[in-house]
Amino acid sequence: MNIINPATEEIIATIDEDTQETLHRKFEILQTGQIAWARQPLAERIKIILSFYHLLEDEIEYLAGVLTSEVGKPLNQSRNEINGARNRITWMLNNAEKYLSDEWMTIGEGLKEKITYEPLGVICNISAWNYPYLVGVNVFIPALLAGNAVMYKPSEFSTLTGIQIGKLLKQAGLPDQVFQTALGAKTTGEALLDMDFEGYFFTGSYQTGKYIYERVATKMVPCQLELGGKDPLYVADDVNDIEAVAASTADGAFYNNGQSCCAVERIYVHERIYDEYVNAFLKEVRSWKVGLPTEDGVYLGPLTRKNQIAILDQQVNEAIEKGAILQTGGKRSDGKGYYFEPTVLTDVTNEMRVMQEESFGPIIGIMKVKDDMEALKLMQDTQYGLTAAVYANEKERAERILNQINTGTGYWNCCDRVSAALPWSGRKHSGFGATLSHQGFRAFTKPKAWHMRE
Ligand code: NAD
Repeated sequence: MNIINPATEEIIATIDEDTQETLHRKFEILQTGQIAWARQPLAERIKIILSFYHLLEDEIEYLAGVLTSEVGKPLNQSRNEINGARNRITWMLNNAEKYLSDEWMTIGEGLKEKITYEPLGVICNISAWNYPYLVGVNVFIPALLAGNAVMYKPSEFSTLTGIQIGKLLKQAGLPDQVFQTALGAKTTGEALLDMDFEGYFFTGSYQTGKYIYERVATKMVPCQLELGGKDPLYVADDVNDIEAVAASTADGAFYNNGQSCCAVERIYVHERIYDEYVNAFLKEVRSWKVGLPTEDGVYLGPLTRKNQIAILDQQVNEAIEKGAILQTGGKRSDGKGYYFEPTVLTDVTNEMRVMQEESFGPIIGIMKVKDDMEALKLMQDTQYGLTAAVYANEKERAERILNQINTGTGYWNCCDRVSAALPWSGRKHSGFGATLSHQGFRAFTKPKAWHMRE
């Protein structure tokens, strides 16, 4: 498999994909080690993950370079991602004992009741490329801490990073019998679905997630899906500082080239502040430096996947045909690399694809609304249910709207953020189950109820 640098279109590495045979061998290796790993005291497992955490810190410059070379995000955003993953690991290490230890529920006369949290066993993690450290860490760190063995399949677009993650975990002291990396694209993923894992944890698109869920259903094991979104954001007319709101929400839409599951994908603005907001938004977008992701000060590099350019082209063209106004951008940039100009469309409607289908790129539609009711109705109009955001001065006003939207996350005066302490979960086509928080530990366990009469 060729690994291509999306900024230069050069082949930067060629690696051997796993075959049916190598995958089976890796699976068998994991089966031999999982029980011993689960029997180790939690403190031992914590020690190894802590050592991984330090290696990420020591190697950050090299790792950020590798990540940027294959996904194209600016170097600084690669560093941010690795540091973000380290922060999540810290939270997990600090909370593992609290959420994985036995819980005594009742200690009555002659009867004791407790819950123990047993690992699922050998689990499979099929992962995405847009934040390989963050979405990877969400799964394999709590899974390992809980005593599972993990087959980790990085996306074919972040293979080199996946290899580095495997190397560093091994260097940290994690036995081969506990963590294996499955390399390749769709065929590798398909082969993993044929094996008898005791849990499937998927991060990726709705289409693949739905397919995986159907394929593994008859195995009767947990299957958790973290999928895409079409996340709406509403700016109410009582916000204090329109310029600051425009800058913050533009970042929420365009950070990592809009290639975030929780990127702002649709913006609704109260008519009273619409013109001022759009002007400030455009000023912000036009201030960004686009260029090689290795250059200082660059905010937008290339898209990771060439195929996405055609999808963005279609969304822009269809919107313009249906009456949208192209305020800036709108096409692929000239020259080498998978660059697409940062694009802002106004006068959009919810019937347009740009307001319905996940864009996953540097493009946003902004729409004027007359009041909160209209904003709410439009925000609800989606198959997805990952996040929704409201910028408003009055907290109750934001809560009233967010309470009526069927998403796993609500943001008031912020957007496009994830916290290790809070559950990360989608609804509807955005998936189900949760990573992070205490739920993100329990997801990798089977509770056992103990009724003990003396
Ligand atoms: P994708 O669905 O194309 O691929 C995801 C993974 O599935 C890859 O490892 C791929 O090789 C594998 N795969 C593809 N076809 C398969 C098959 N038939 N059987 C088994 N495995 C298969 O998604 P992507 O492009 O890597 O990621 C982008 C998507 O992920 C976006 O929709 C984004 O919103 C979503 N995402 C969601 C979250 C979240 O937490 N909710 C986080 C990151 C990304």
